[in-house]
Amino acid sequence: MKKTVLLSCILTFSVYFISAQKNIYPPAPKLVVGIVIDQMRYDFLWRFWDLYGDGGFKRLVNEGFLCRNARYNYFLTTTAPGHSTIYTGAPPAIHGIVDNNWYDRQKQQMIYCASDSDTKTVGNVSSSEGSSPKNLLSSTITDELKLISKDSRVIGLALKDRSAIMPAGHLSDGSYWFDSKTGNWITSTWYMDTLPIWLDQFNKSQKKENYTATDWTLLLPRKNYLMCTNDTVPFENPLPGETLPIFPHKINRGNFSLLPNTPFANTMTKDLAIETVKKEQLGKRKVTDFLCISFSSPDLIGHTFGPNSLEIADCYARLDRDLSSLLQFIDSAIGKENVLVFLTADHGVAINAALAHDEQLNGGFFHADSLRDQLNQYVSSFYGQGEWITAMSDQQVYLNQQFIASNKIAGSEIAEKVSDFFLMQKGILCTVAPKYHLNTCAPFVSNTLMNGYQPERSGDVIYSLAPGWIDWSSPRGSSHGTLYDYDAHVPLIWYGWKIDHGSSAEPVGIPDIAPTISDWLHIAYPSGCTGKPITVIGMK
Ligand SMILES: [Zn+2]
Repeated sequence: MKKTVLLSCILTFSVYFISAQKNIYPPAPKLVVGIVIDQMRYDFLWRFWDLYGDGGFKRLVNEGFLCRNARYNYFLTTTAPGHSTIYTGAPPAIHGIVDNNWYDRQKQQMIYCASDSDTKTVGNVSSSEGSSPKNLLSSTITDELKLISKDSRVIGLALKDRSAIMPAGHLSDGSYWFDSKTGNWITSTWYMDTLPIWLDQFNKSQKKENYTATDWTLLLPRKNYLMCTNDTVPFENPLPGETLPIFPHKINRGNFSLLPNTPFANTMTKDLAIETVKKEQLGKRKVTDFLCISFSSPDLIGHTFGPNSLEIADCYARLDRDLSSLLQFIDSAIGKENVLVFLTADHGVAINAALAHDEQLNGGFFHADSLRDQLNQYVSSFYGQGEWITAMSDQQVYLNQQFIASNKIAGSEIAEKVSDFFLMQKGILCTVAPKYHLNTCAPFVSNTLMNGYQPERSGDVIYSLAPGWIDWSSPRGSSHGTLYDYDAHVPLIWYGWKIDHGSSAEPVGIPDIAPTISDWLHIAYPSGCTGKPITVIGMK
């Protein structure tokens, strides 16, 4: 009997010891590089596969671990909510960044997600109101790293300020974005009072002009772009200053305002990322550093030309070469085994609705702006003339609460009329008005809408467009924002450090990214985190 107890003790201890050894992966990576592609739909990985070289997307997929079924779990799928969710592991209902802009009921005006009147910009000619992560209510994975490891450096980079600010969090050592008026990379007094010398030098270098030195032509022979529509289709917008949206796109040297609309801005972002790693000595110390990069140009190009254009295909072909050069640099400077890279997107994009129509698909352009007067008239026809609506923005309606109260009418009555009005329009799936317990959506839809709903910042009545419908004032180009697969399903690739090659179609939520990294770094999850570590990723 005694022998059996002893034996089972030894056995238990050995199993514990072996599993403990197996489940811990010290040391942590020296550097984590988060790469977000603005507006990259999941299928773009495969649709443009033949345009890619061996060192970029193909290398990430062939050597890393691909989550084939990674999805956003909320509505509105736009830039600021996407970046915030990736880095907080929380939906907008918790991190509070419900959209790029929302109506501020206290200030009685639309506000921008990263605006902060207590800060000033740093690095451009005349400093103006700055930006900060003040409105981001949850901590980020990068904040949690800084809280536990003060020596860790955290930097955020993107053309768009919101895409540099939200990822690198409240404790960022520097979040930098592009000022297309001056062509400078700038920041705000939230982070510092003067730019680092190396960034100032980058701004002043002649090299920067080179990004505007050549016209935009196709990288590869035209016959390689079989996945695209013709260059002359009527579904595309011309670039500012152009009359037709066709190649070659003329770029004027020194015209930095046009640069973000070209793939050359991705190259500039990549070059700055490399410069940042060198000058900030990222990955070279005893602690883990974190670099958050977001490539904004695919979104600008996608909105202008749509996801079926030659332009967007060429943008990805060129971005692939930029990723290749970034990965090569990481290999030589720090070593692949020391750097954890993840790549994902903040949202996808819909097919242009006119093109969809030509293909016999359902869908259309929903002109919300032009409906505001009609909506107000509809409500007025029941309750008398007045301004019943305060604001409309991105599938959300803000009621004029003061006016409703002064007329002694229950808000729920007005919300119901607003909901009725939208349900009569073509292209509407359903509506919710959470404060008034009004819900005409199926459970999956209302749950997804509620994950993006924050009472203080979201609209009073929210309508969801039907599949294929785009809230977009132009019949050209395209947009995103819905809960459908084309907006919500994005690539998620893990690469480097101890990541083994493989892939999985197991459902993964974008809020799972941050806790996965927390788990590997042995640090706290972000404060608002609702995700859970992804367990299907193979580790060496
Ligand atoms: Zn966009």
